[in-house]
Amino acid sequence: QIEFIQALQMPGVREKKEPELSEVEKKRLTIEETKKSLPIYPFKEDLIQAVREHQVLIIEGETGSGKTTQIPQYLHEAGFTKDGKKIGCTQPRRVAAMSVAARVAQEMGVKLGNEVGYAIRFEDCTSERTVIKYMTDGTLHREFLSEPDLASYSVMIIDEAHERTLHTDILFGLVKDIARFRPDLKLLISSATLDVTKFSEFFDDAPMFQIPGRRFPVDIYYTKAPEADYVDACVVSVLQIHVTQPLGDILVFLTGQEEIETCQELLQDRLRRLGSKVKELLVLPVYANLPSDMQAKIFEPTPPGARKVILATNIAETSLTIDNIIYVIDPGFVKQNHFNSRTGMESLIVVPISKASANQRAGRAGRVAAGKCFRLYTAWSYKHELEDNTVPEIQRINLGNAVLMLKALGINDLVHFDFLDPPPHETLVLALEQLYALGALNHHGELTKLGRRMAEFPVDPMMAKMLLAGEKYKCSEELVTIAAMLSINSAIFYRPKDKIIHADTARKNFNHLAGDHLSLLNVYNQWKDTDYSTQWCYENFIQYRSMRRARDIREQLVGLMQRVEIEMVSNVTECVNIRKSITAGYFYHIARLSKGGNYKTVKHNQTVTIHPNSSLFEDLPRWVLYHELVFTTKEFMRQVISIDSRWLLEVAPHYYKPKELEDSTNKKMPKTMGRSTRTE
Ligand code: ADP
Ligand code: MG
Repeated sequence: QIEFIQALQMPGVREKKEPELSEVEKKRLTIEETKKSLPIYPFKEDLIQAVREHQVLIIEGETGSGKTTQIPQYLHEAGFTKDGKKIGCTQPRRVAAMSVAARVAQEMGVKLGNEVGYAIRFEDCTSERTVIKYMTDGTLHREFLSEPDLASYSVMIIDEAHERTLHTDILFGLVKDIARFRPDLKLLISSATLDVTKFSEFFDDAPMFQIPGRRFPVDIYYTKAPEADYVDACVVSVLQIHVTQPLGDILVFLTGQEEIETCQELLQDRLRRLGSKVKELLVLPVYANLPSDMQAKIFEPTPPGARKVILATNIAETSLTIDNIIYVIDPGFVKQNHFNSRTGMESLIVVPISKASANQRAGRAGRVAAGKCFRLYTAWSYKHELEDNTVPEIQRINLGNAVLMLKALGINDLVHFDFLDPPPHETLVLALEQLYALGALNHHGELTKLGRRMAEFPVDPMMAKMLLAGEKYKCSEELVTIAAMLSINSAIFYRPKDKIIHADTARKNFNHLAGDHLSLLNVYNQWKDTDYSTQWCYENFIQYRSMRRARDIREQLVGLMQRVEIEMVSNVTECVNIRKSITAGYFYHIARLSKGGNYKTVKHNQTVTIHPNSSLFEDLPRWVLYHELVFTTKEFMRQVISIDSRWLLEVAPHYYKPKELEDSTNKKMPKTMGRSTRTE
């Protein structure tokens, strides 16, 4: 039992006759009725008129008012696609782009991928017939490379502008520039209800079009004391609501897939134990890598008499609107990428959300009736510990990728690029230095031939460099597989609670002595040898969907390798060459064994540790290369291989000096090592 204190009420319109929950439940509107019931609908003609009159328009409206799904349809009906040009709409998140496109295709009664389509990294679901195209902001950023004036678009909507992702921020500068020499291009900047005057000012005082919100009041509750384990607190709160509160669906904000899965298991476990004592409670997850058929489930109406609880990442904060949410549970955390320009380390960490975020989350509870938001933190922490606004991504992440793209677009003077909020100077400098070290830029800061080839790949510059090293080291086939396996972003290994030992044994069978990248290669190649069998995945506790995605990504990467004219060759006998190629890209990510089983990064002497899931966890080679850092209780290196420090001089002679790598013996050190013969 968690004790909550009601603190305040978020204002909303209390309608004279408030809909009864049972009534809300009963109402199953047809698509046409739903469209007409959206807050944006009464403004349809005004909006079309405003778009006709102005080149740039800032649109502001409450989440769920119909901006994303309706505006492209309105403009399509109004004839903005008559001349064969498209309406584009960007989304910061993949899931949103896919889900919204599917919804709009359904509303228009067309097949997804025909008139309405979407494009995300490694997946293009559009055709020549496509007139409404949803895409991630990163995808549009990339489209600039092949179509710098966006000639195939009549309207471009930069949606979810308030999210301030890195790509969206850069798009602002790019589209503003294009609008100047393409007076026929209409530009819409659309945002949830937040301060949008900043957008208007940036776009030379563009007019603002406000869609009046329609929201019911939301009661806000705080916990009396801080909660130590918020996942557990979520489970308890969900059950508490389920048992004591009237029907209505629950939305829980968690930080990532793993957490969501843990929460789901715990909930289902306890529900099973409660048995038929409680009403039916459907538990549905939603996160970035959730397969699309599962995503569709969250939008299905809850069966009468039952309740639905949706366990979501931040995606449900503003990108996706799920109807009939009455209760919101907000632990107050989000997972963010953070880059430390002093140490050059980038890491995924869970951080407290901002007040603006907390209020958006609470707002999700008041869309169809008066709702309740349970914050799993105290009123004191809300007031004193949460920042007012989330820091834009451009000010907190590594800019390597963005800088490479801008350089490839011919934008050389980055310091004077038109940023809505400029990135910190040191981050920009570091990105330039990194690209120089990778060989993508020359010492004048101009793109090299290698850099131009790297920019063709929709991946991090380090990964692009690794792939291109396959040319020299004659192992492009293997590298493409490794890159694909590293890019799926969802769990590859399946670890059911009741079969943990079997699952872990199965996993160990794939382990490669040299480390995780090669273990991943093993998994893929063995799967390929079974002719991509589902059964094989099942028997080996491997997620078939993840593998299928790896196969798709791999195919795309092979296409790109051919485009930059790199021959696909295989080198199965030489795992050294594969590791050298990886090192050619990731030579920034090197750590050396230090005391007590910890590692120190070479350049900045930061303490890092091998992740327990790594095949090298018990091995502790002297020198390792890691793919990424994840911060939980400490800085963990995830996906690790052992390397020979001499390779660093071979692949990055301009970055490493022999002195830094004095210890070049590659022998393993005993785990109990107390003192070493070298100077640390
Ligand atoms: P906004 O962009 O203003 O936040 P949207 O256009 O995304 O609003 O959503 C408007 C409405 O469309 C939602 O309230 C919901 O009823 C419906 N909707 C959106 N996406 C889906 C979907 N994938 N499935 C079913 N309904 C959806
Ligand atoms: Mg939207």
